[in-house]
Amino acid sequence: MDKDFLKKLVQYIRTVGPRRAAVLQRAGIFTVKDLLYYFPSRYEDRTRIKPAGACAQGEMAVLRGTVMAVQENRSRRGLIITKVAINDGLGIFYAIWFNQPFIKKNLLRGMRIIITGKVKKGYGAVQVMVEEYERDEGGDILSAGRLAPVYPLTWQLKQRFLRSIVKAALEELKGQTKEFLPERLLEKLHLPHFESALHSIHFPDNYENAERARKRFIFEELFLFQLALSVRWKELRNREKLYRCLPGGKLTTSFIENLPYKLTAEQIKVCKEISRDMESSVPMHRLLQGDVGAGKTVVSIIALLKAVENGLQGALMAPTEILAEQHYLGMREALGRYGVKVGLLTGGIRKKEKDSLLETVTSGEVNILVGTQALIQEGVHFYRLGLVVVDEQHRFGVRQRANLQHRGSCPDTLVMTATPIPRTLALTLYGELDISVIAQLPPGRLPVKTYHVPSGALTRVYSMIKEQVRQGRQAFIVCPLVEESEKIDLQAAAALAENLAAAEFKDFRVGLLHGRMRSDAKESVMDCFRRGEIEILVCTTVIEVGVDVPNATIIAILDADRYGLAQLHQLRGRVGRGFYQSHCILVASPKTKEGRARLKAMTLTTDGFALAEEDLRLRGPGEFYGIRQSGLPEFRIADLFRDWKALQLAREEALAWVREDPQLLKPESRVLLAEVKARFDSAVNYIDVG
Ligand code: ADP
Ligand code: MG
Repeated sequence: MDKDFLKKLVQYIRTVGPRRAAVLQRAGIFTVKDLLYYFPSRYEDRTRIKPAGACAQGEMAVLRGTVMAVQENRSRRGLIITKVAINDGLGIFYAIWFNQPFIKKNLLRGMRIIITGKVKKGYGAVQVMVEEYERDEGGDILSAGRLAPVYPLTWQLKQRFLRSIVKAALEELKGQTKEFLPERLLEKLHLPHFESALHSIHFPDNYENAERARKRFIFEELFLFQLALSVRWKELRNREKLYRCLPGGKLTTSFIENLPYKLTAEQIKVCKEISRDMESSVPMHRLLQGDVGAGKTVVSIIALLKAVENGLQGALMAPTEILAEQHYLGMREALGRYGVKVGLLTGGIRKKEKDSLLETVTSGEVNILVGTQALIQEGVHFYRLGLVVVDEQHRFGVRQRANLQHRGSCPDTLVMTATPIPRTLALTLYGELDISVIAQLPPGRLPVKTYHVPSGALTRVYSMIKEQVRQGRQAFIVCPLVEESEKIDLQAAAALAENLAAAEFKDFRVGLLHGRMRSDAKESVMDCFRRGEIEILVCTTVIEVGVDVPNATIIAILDADRYGLAQLHQLRGRVGRGFYQSHCILVASPKTKEGRARLKAMTLTTDGFALAEEDLRLRGPGEFYGIRQSGLPEFRIADLFRDWKALQLAREEALAWVREDPQLLKPESRVLLAEVKARFDSAVNYIDVG
C-alpha cells in the first residue's frame, strides 16, 4: 500500500516488460517514483490542432486525422521516404518521414494519429515533415487535457512511450499515496497535494495547474534539501572542539610584520574573521572565496601559524602534488626561521620516508602537514590537530573533504576556492556566518592581456613567447588533454616538447610536465621552473590550479576552445602574479558558436565573477561551474539559480521548522525526515558546510 507503490520497480506497471524496463533504466528510471519524478520539460498545447488547410507555409503545426494510405519511395540519393495520406475531415494532407522504414508497419489504414511537424505547401497539396507523432487514442491520452507532456528524451526513450507508461502509472497510483509535506505549509504557500500535483504536472488541465504543480515539486525538493542541511548544521554547531586558540600571538604578528608586502585591507579583515572563529569553542567551518591570485595562501598560512602558536598542529590539503609541494616549499622557506616544522605528504612518497614522517606527525614534532589526498588516508594521526585548510576545495571529491573534517577532535576547517559562487547561493548553501571574501587583488597587478589567435598562426605565438623569455621571463605552453585517451595526449605533449626544444626553441631551455609523470620527476621539473632554469614549460592542465611562479608572464593555451570558462580563467591565472605585464594567448579555431563566445569573453575581461556570469549565460544555470563539483546533489526539478527565490523561501521554512521541532520528533517531522533521508542522505552527509 501507499508509498510502497512508488518504491516498486517500473516493471510493476502494466505494459512495462523487461525490455522497456531496461530502456528506462538507462535513463536512470528504476522505480515508479523515479518515473513519476521524471518531469516534462514543457507541454504541447493540443488546442493548437487545426486542419491542414488552415496552416501556413513553414509553420510548426499540430494536426490530427485518419490514415488513408501509406506509400514508400526511394529518392535518387537513396533516402527512404514514407508518405502517408491523412484525412483530417476537411481534406487530405500528406505526412512525410525520412529514413524511418519501420513507420509504415506502425501506421495502419484507418488509424487515427496526431502529428507535429513543419508545413510545406505546394501544387495545392499540404505536406508535413513529421517531427513527432502519436496514436490518437481519443478517450485515452488526450482526454486527460488539452496539454500533452513533452519529456526530455535520451537515447531510446520515446515521447509516446513515456507518455503512455506515465499515464498507466498514474492510473494505478490513484489513492495509494500519502502526503509528506506538512499540511500547514501547503496551505500557507498555496501548493497542491502530492497526488494531485503528480497528475497535474504530467497531464495538466491547464497551464495554471501545471505551474502550481511545478512550484510544489520545486519547493518540495528545495525544502527537503534545506531541511537536510539545517539538521546537519545544527549537528555541527553543537559540537565542541577540543582545542581552542587564544587571542593575540607573537608568531603571527611577527610573521605579518616580516612579509615582503603589506596585507591588503581585505586580507586583514578575513584574517580577523578566521581568528575569531579559532578562538570560539564552536568548530570553524569557513569558506574563503577569492579570485585567482587574490592572495588566499598567505591568509591560510597566518591561520595555520595561529594554530601553531597555540601549541596545535595544522594540516593543509591541496588537490595536486604540484600544488602541495609548492605550498610546502613556500612555507618551509617562510616559516623555517620561526622554528616551525613543516612536513609534506603526497602519494608519491616512499614507504620508509612516509613512516618516519607520520611518526613525527603523531608525536607532534611536525607543526604543519601539507599534502594531497594522502592526508586523509588511514595511518595519519595527529598529536593535536587544531586547523585543517583545504585549498581549491572545488577540485576535491566531497567525500574526501568530509573525511578530513572528521579527523582529530572537531578541528577548525577553512576551505578556499576561487569559484565565485554567487553570494545569495553561497549563503543558502554554507550558512550565514561562514563565508569570507577577498574581493580585491593585491595592489600593482596589471590585468593579463589576452589574445585569441587561430590555430594556424603558431609562429606568431612562438615569437611572442621568445620575446618574453629574452626579457628574462618564463612561459607556459598548455597542450590539450582529452580524457578519452590520456595516453595519446601525453605522448603528443611529450612530442611537442621535444620538437619545440629541438627546433623552434632550440636556444631556450624547455621542460615537460604532465600528471602521469613520477612524483619526483614532477617535483624536479617544477623546482627547475621555479628557479628559472626551465624557461618554457610545455605542460598539460596539471598546472591549472594554484601554481604560483610570478616570473612567468606568458601562457599559450592550445586548443583553448576545448576548455570551459572556469578552466580557462584558472589557467590564465598562472600568469599575472607579479608586477610584470603578462599575456595569455588562446590558440584555437573554434567550430561552435559557444566556443567562440567563450574565447571572446576571455579576451574581454579578467574578472572571475564576470566570467562566471557569462558562463551562466552561455551554458545555462544547471551547468554553472563549480556547482556540479561542489558536492551538491543533482536536483530533479529545482534549479538553484533560476529558483533562487524558492530556495530562500525553502530555507526560511526549513529553519523555522527545525526551530519549532528541534529534535524532529513530531509525527510530521518523522515523515519529512524519512523523505529527506531517501533523497539527500548520501549527498548531505558529505556536504561540507563551509
Ligand atoms: P590565490 O588566491 O590564487 O591562491 P596566491 O595566494 O597564490 O593566490 O597569491 C598570488 C600571489 O600574490 C603570490 O605570489 C603572493 O605572494 C602574492 N600576494 C599575496 N598577497 C599579497 C599582497 N597583499 N600584496 C602583494 N602580493 C601579494
Ligand atoms: Mg591558491
